[in-house]
Amino acid sequence: MDFKDYIRVIPDYPQPGIRFKDITTLLKDGPAYKAAIDAMKELVKDKEIDLIAGPEARGFVIGAPLALALGIGFIPIRKSGKLPGETVEATYDLEYGNDRLAIHSDSIKPGQKVLIADDLLATGGTIATSIDLIKQLGGDIVGAAFLIELGYLSGRDKLSGIDVVSLVTY
Ligand code: 5GP
Repeated sequence: MDFKDYIRVIPDYPQPGIRFKDITTLLKDGPAYKAAIDAMKELVKDKEIDLIAGPEARGFVIGAPLALALGIGFIPIRKSGKLPGETVEATYDLEYGNDRLAIHSDSIKPGQKVLIADDLLATGGTIATSIDLIKQLGGDIVGAAFLIELGYLSGRDKLSGIDVVSLVTY
């Protein structure tokens, strides 16, 4: 299946010059959504993974079904202020301003093997910050899996030493 056929590209969103990859067109197609999760499972099947962690919000729609398919647990990484329990947090720079991500302090035990999942790798800032949080908890990062990778933004370079896999590259 060519997943690009199911991903809609919206020009000039959220700002002029950006060609936004809209995955809602893939998500609403049951067989395509399932095939994408199955294919991502195939990409990581040789890894030993205890948990999947994914950043809100699109990291949930990829990470949680992937965790279910693998029969393992899912850890949400959220914007600061959204998780009810004790958290560890990290701030990262966006193109304009910054953002702060949080994870429950007791979500990962030291030494647990964690795969990070998200819909899309762009500059790598979101995932680098997620990795920082997981490492603060003593988690062992076994890789990062994406539905889409924007190769021209070289996000991989920010994730040196991490095994990065993606289903579709632009
Ligand atoms: P990064 O931190 O790698 O620069 O940006 C990746 C994050 O921004 C991901 O969490 C992703 O959901 C979101 N993102 C950035 N550009 C796009 C896009 O074109 N399409 C989608 N679906 N998400 C995007």
